[in-house]
Amino acid sequence: MLGLMQDWPLLLHRIIDHAAIQHGTREVVSRAVEDGTLRRRSYREIRSRALRVAKRLDREGIGLGDRVATLAWNSDRHLELWYGISGIGAITHTVNPRLFPEQIAGIVSHAEDRLMFLDLTFVPMIEAIQEKLPSVARYVVLTDAAHMPQTRLRGAVAYEDWLTEADDDFTWRAFDENTAAGLCYTSGTTGGPKGVLYSHRSNVLHALACAAPDYMGLSARDTVMPVVPLFHANSWSLAYSAPMTGAKLVMPGAKLDGPSLHELLEGEGVTMTAAVPTVWLGLLQHLEATKGELSTLKRVVIGGSACPRAMTETFERKYGVTVAHAWGMTEMSPLGSFCSVKPVYEQLSGDALYDLKVKQGHPPFTVEFRLTDDAGRDLPWDGKTFGRLKVRGPAVAGAYYRHDEKILDDQGFFDTGDVATIDPAGYMQVTDRSKDVIKSGGEWISSIDLENLAVGHPDVAEAAVIGVAHPKWDERPLLVIVPKPGRAPSKEEMLAFMTGKIAKWWLPDDVVLVEAIPHTATGKIQKTRLREMFKDYRLPG
Ligand code: ADP
Repeated sequence: MLGLMQDWPLLLHRIIDHAAIQHGTREVVSRAVEDGTLRRRSYREIRSRALRVAKRLDREGIGLGDRVATLAWNSDRHLELWYGISGIGAITHTVNPRLFPEQIAGIVSHAEDRLMFLDLTFVPMIEAIQEKLPSVARYVVLTDAAHMPQTRLRGAVAYEDWLTEADDDFTWRAFDENTAAGLCYTSGTTGGPKGVLYSHRSNVLHALACAAPDYMGLSARDTVMPVVPLFHANSWSLAYSAPMTGAKLVMPGAKLDGPSLHELLEGEGVTMTAAVPTVWLGLLQHLEATKGELSTLKRVVIGGSACPRAMTETFERKYGVTVAHAWGMTEMSPLGSFCSVKPVYEQLSGDALYDLKVKQGHPPFTVEFRLTDDAGRDLPWDGKTFGRLKVRGPAVAGAYYRHDEKILDDQGFFDTGDVATIDPAGYMQVTDRSKDVIKSGGEWISSIDLENLAVGHPDVAEAAVIGVAHPKWDERPLLVIVPKPGRAPSKEEMLAFMTGKIAKWWLPDDVVLVEAIPHTATGKIQKTRLREMFKDYRLPG
């Protein structure tokens, strides 16, 4: 027997409708890419402009299933495009501008995007590769006539001019909730980029699950600044979950440096924000140098790569801002777990609490975990045994876009490629990406644990650990450090600092200082590149 409830498909435009009706005057503040000034709109205006986008696209001949690329920073325009594009059943392909131009050409061609919306910043880059983008019939530059550059991009038009040609007298198209809404390619940290195709239903469920108190913890009284880009897997749900809850949005545009972010945090009264650790490194350095404060910020979500314990402690102890460590991946829409405190751990304080907070945490409803060995046998959740972390849920990829590879196991779980432990209370901790783990004498050393420890040293700004070839042990850890300005910790100092805090045989065999560590397009330490840089490195002795 079927239930007798209404048929109300989970469609993304219902989110912006709700925001406009219930939270119509709440602001979306954006830093303009043109000149860095702040532009203010309301959810009501965003919805009206999204409807104009939808109507204008419809007139352009774009419809159900067509792919439309965006190459853009976080802004009101990017937000209204998202809702406008998916509101007619077309698919927003968020392109990560930090990919190499060759990779961008590759994924835009693979997706066969018909139209591209791009920020001013990216016009020269796309001009240089437009011959390799044959599917793109037209380019819309996200600016107005006054700021429109001379460009040889095919059919180029300024967005505000393009949009004037349509009013908001338009009805969202009706279609099944399983219709594709967004396309995001993995940034290829460990392989070639692959397309993850989100549906309306998966994105709505993901946003609902993430908004809850133990996860993003959003409310209508919040002011949310997604520093994590819309092109980094749905801005970790915020472009949906903030309007869904009526939180004010602050979009930082192209300026993600410490001083610019601090100005927005303080100036707009931001209460919650989210980004990868490297972004917060910049902010914390700025605060330290200027003796700045965080007077309104309550929560910061840190994920995308392991959040160092020292960073959590600085935010919490020095600035009184609660850190939620989050883990996920493009294939999971992207959020898989958050480290908030369950009642079983309520009594923890001081160091013991920070031991918990380095873990990646527990999954929201809609995400199931499985831990197995290489043969696919389940492993115990004892907080010690590590194995392959596998996931299942309504917002987890079941296949890649236009890819034949089978990616689910016999029980429908997706292998994340991460090695992890899960404790009896359900808290997951990532040991490493399986490709980054250091294999020494048949045993595994976690590069994440070593990095975490090394950045706790007062002279260290950033640290990375890779395995380098060793004649006896196969691989041994090499610690690569970016020192803080004016500091130069020695190998002996570093090893002395780490001794006693980890097993002796985990201690790195050598320490090298570098000016910068390479990062991927999503801000992760680029281990493949680092291993390449040190491939001929000879360990002492
Ligand atoms: P990419 O496209 O670079 O693979 P993703 O953002 O999808 O980008 O990367 C997902 C991977 O990032 C995860 O499988 C995991 O290895 C790593 N990751 C994400 N969050 C964390 C975290 N909090 N701690 C450790 N690793 C993380």
